[in-house]
Amino acid sequence: MPHVVTQPCCADASCVFACPVNAIHPTPDEPDFASADMVYIDPVSCVDCGACVGACPVGAIKADHKLTVDELPFIELNRLFHENRPTPPVQAPVTPVVGRADDLPLSVAVVGAGPAGLYAADELLKRPGVEVTVIDRLPTPYGLVRAGVAPDHPETRTIDRLFGMIEEQDGFGYALGLDVGIDVSHEELAQHFDAVVYATGASRDRTMDIPGESLPGSVTATDFVAWYNGHPDHADDLFDLSHERVVIVGNGNVALDVARILATDPELLAGTDIADHALEALRRSSVREVVILARRGPAQSAFTLPEITGLLSRNDIDVVVEGDLDAVASSLMDQQKIEALRSAAPRSGARRIVLRYQAMPVQILGDEVTTGIRIAQTRLEADGDGVRAVATDQIEDIATGLVLRSVGYRGVPLAGLPFDDARAVVPNDQGRVADMPGVYVVGWIKRGPNGFIGTNKTCAAETIDRLFEDVHHGLLSAPSKRGLPQAVAERTIDLDGWRQIERWERRLGLADGRIRVRLTDRDQMRRVAAVSPDVPGRERRRRRVILGA
Ligand code: NAP
Repeated sequence: MPHVVTQPCCADASCVFACPVNAIHPTPDEPDFASADMVYIDPVSCVDCGACVGACPVGAIKADHKLTVDELPFIELNRLFHENRPTPPVQAPVTPVVGRADDLPLSVAVVGAGPAGLYAADELLKRPGVEVTVIDRLPTPYGLVRAGVAPDHPETRTIDRLFGMIEEQDGFGYALGLDVGIDVSHEELAQHFDAVVYATGASRDRTMDIPGESLPGSVTATDFVAWYNGHPDHADDLFDLSHERVVIVGNGNVALDVARILATDPELLAGTDIADHALEALRRSSVREVVILARRGPAQSAFTLPEITGLLSRNDIDVVVEGDLDAVASSLMDQQKIEALRSAAPRSGARRIVLRYQAMPVQILGDEVTTGIRIAQTRLEADGDGVRAVATDQIEDIATGLVLRSVGYRGVPLAGLPFDDARAVVPNDQGRVADMPGVYVVGWIKRGPNGFIGTNKTCAAETIDRLFEDVHHGLLSAPSKRGLPQAVAERTIDLDGWRQIERWERRLGLADGRIRVRLTDRDQMRRVAAVSPDVPGRERRRRRVILGA
């Protein structure tokens, strides 16, 4: 009975290194790793030892006889990937380990507590004598794992167990609620730490540059995601869900997440950790149809195979495909997406998601608020290695009161660091920032907004290997002071404070039959973080009333 990788695969490749027979591919050193949607187990060489099951941080690997009906398509997806692949050597690749040259503690600030920052901290702490302070402007860590992953994907969120283990290591510390560039400058960090690693992600959205884009009712999908995930910056946002149809522009995984949340019966979301305000708004929602617009064809869909397979297996959502499913795809993966789309079956009575292809937005319609979106039918033209959409003069208006723009993220310049405006990344060589010894980048601010949570593991390993090479070559100048200035550190939330917030949220959830109830107010989070876990139960309950949590 071979094992099978299923939908929540985060591609962090821990399973690759755990497999004793090298049955899991692509491996991080293979050329197709960067572009793969997930990793796959070869059913022929798998010896069914289960070593990969324990190594997977998101519980994505199961023995094939333990799969649910929805997960059965993954048996074929795993098999197909290996079908025509040359047999690899039995020995799996081993992560290169770079040791430290001396015993002096190396103190490193990591700016950004999302997956990229935490994987970087983990890589740093694998070496003895390293201290890491992970800084984030929010009072809570985990970045997009907390504020981006959809609440109906709880398996993906289980990666927070891995983050919990990273936090446990000696030398790890948090300084949460500290905004670098506002509360503390890059220059100050450079004076206080041997090295600074930026893991700030890509926090803005790309724009479409079409008329009407800034009308009320035309908003970014990422704001909507942040709202339903209880991000403190978006807790008070309002979205007009009073119309029957919502239109989403772009068909990446973010678009699928948002469409699913809008098309799911809110009572099915009630047990998740979706923000209370979002659950209430979704209960009042009149939305019955979500149209996802893609300017190119099905073979160029930006969503990944596991995500569309997961959506199509849902029997409570009606998925309709309006596009040319006879198109020829240029890769096996794209062909599999077309095959998956062919399996879409109508489900009467359910809310609908319409995947509409070759439709390019040209204008958001409306005088004072959004009333619709104007699209041009496109034709597809070969463009170098790819395919490009060209607008034709066939125009159509779609009525809607809410357009969610889901056309990708964009990195933001960091004060004191260079910025490549065209790629929206900090220019770097394998994570080293050009002409700034001791300054490094990981994650989306290094390579652009692509890949999965686990992609950041390989990305962080590359950067931290470069950092240690620089340590060995004596290229980092010793800081004049050590750690954050006391006055700054005192204003931040540390690891104990974060654990206190976590416990608080889970306890509130327990009382409500939910995974957790999210705190969304910064001040309340600070107050909760300051409550010692050692106070007796009755006193804690009294404080809970005072804190309103
Ligand atoms: P994305 O995958 O880059 O998709 C962007 C979409 O916007 C594409 O369909 C693109 O079409 C379209 N687009 C771009 N500019 C446009 C324009 N001017 N007009 C019309 N359409 C336009 O972005 P994303 O969905 O934000 O995802 C970002 C990353 O996060 C991805 O790596 C994704 O896999 C990851 N993510 C993963 C998960 C998960 O694994 N569950 C969940 C969420 C996000 P073209 O292809 O034609 O350019």
